[in-house]
Amino acid sequence: MKGFDFEEERIKQEIAKLGAKRVLLQLPEGLKPEGPRLAKIIEKTGALPIISADPCYGACDLATAEAQRLGIDLIVHFGHAKLVKHEQVPTVYVEARATVTVAEALEKSVPLLSKYGKIGLATTVQHVQTLDEARELLVRAGKTVVVGDAGRVNYSGQVTGCDYSNVKSVANGVEAFLFIGGGRFHALGIALSTFKPTIIADPYENRAYSIDEEAQTVLKQRWACIEEAGHAKTFGVLIGLKLGQKRLDEAFRIKEIAEKNGKAAFLFAVREILPEALMEFPSVDAYVNTACPRISLDAPSKFLKPVLTVNEFMVVAGETSWETLLKNGLFEN
Ligand code: SF4
Repeated sequence: MKGFDFEEERIKQEIAKLGAKRVLLQLPEGLKPEGPRLAKIIEKTGALPIISADPCYGACDLATAEAQRLGIDLIVHFGHAKLVKHEQVPTVYVEARATVTVAEALEKSVPLLSKYGKIGLATTVQHVQTLDEARELLVRAGKTVVVGDAGRVNYSGQVTGCDYSNVKSVANGVEAFLFIGGGRFHALGIALSTFKPTIIADPYENRAYSIDEEAQTVLKQRWACIEEAGHAKTFGVLIGLKLGQKRLDEAFRIKEIAEKNGKAAFLFAVREILPEALMEFPSVDAYVNTACPRISLDAPSKFLKPVLTVNEFMVVAGETSWETLLKNGLFEN
């Protein structure tokens, strides 16, 4: 697959350094087709590669338990920066930096930013190396550019699916955000975390466009879910089993708050939060999701019952208001 740096030489060096005999390859969905090619490279080092075919959406989902079961000496995790603080199995992160050029998409974003003088820049780990180029281009176009660094993620200006601390840290000082990267997912996260106009410069499609209309639609859907969950008699509290998604204490607290409000509440342990899994429990009126918060944002289109984020549940329970929720974020801690 062209367009990404898989750092094959570094992988070989890490295998040799550790003397790893059995290596687990974990790739996100878009990069999975590379698995067999990378496995072949690893085989040539004398180690035995095993490719994880399970879904992997973030570094929160490090396959530690699987690795331990398989007697793995080294996990090679592709496509995400380190998130879990202390790995139980030696792990190498290959961020899979994109090699695609961003100049054309950036040029196309400038007219869409014409109304704004102060721009916040953001991107995913795949494109952090392009932030300087983007900054220069915007400065040449007469803009003041700000790149946030709240110190929570690995790089300045980086956002992940559920961490927008970098953009939030500068939101008050900018008029709009420019996100560099493919797809709408992360840009939508920026718009819903900052409520600032957000433009995407997509280097894969070589185009630039606004995400604001979609953010407004999602916001309306979230409010509708909160209203519906307000009538629920029975709540299901979802506990994620993925390493970086497990928030047991939070789940216990939610059950307690629900019961204090006269509701029934049951705890559910789950690896993948799928509509068909939740359909097995028709007596549950609404769910509270303590695992990956972004799944809740897909809820209205995929799930039959409201699947609230923890913060949204606090509105239903009267612990906070919709206005405060908007200020603090729909889905962030
Ligand atoms: S919790 Fe969800 S959004 Fe956050 S890193 Fe994991 S998969 Fe991505």
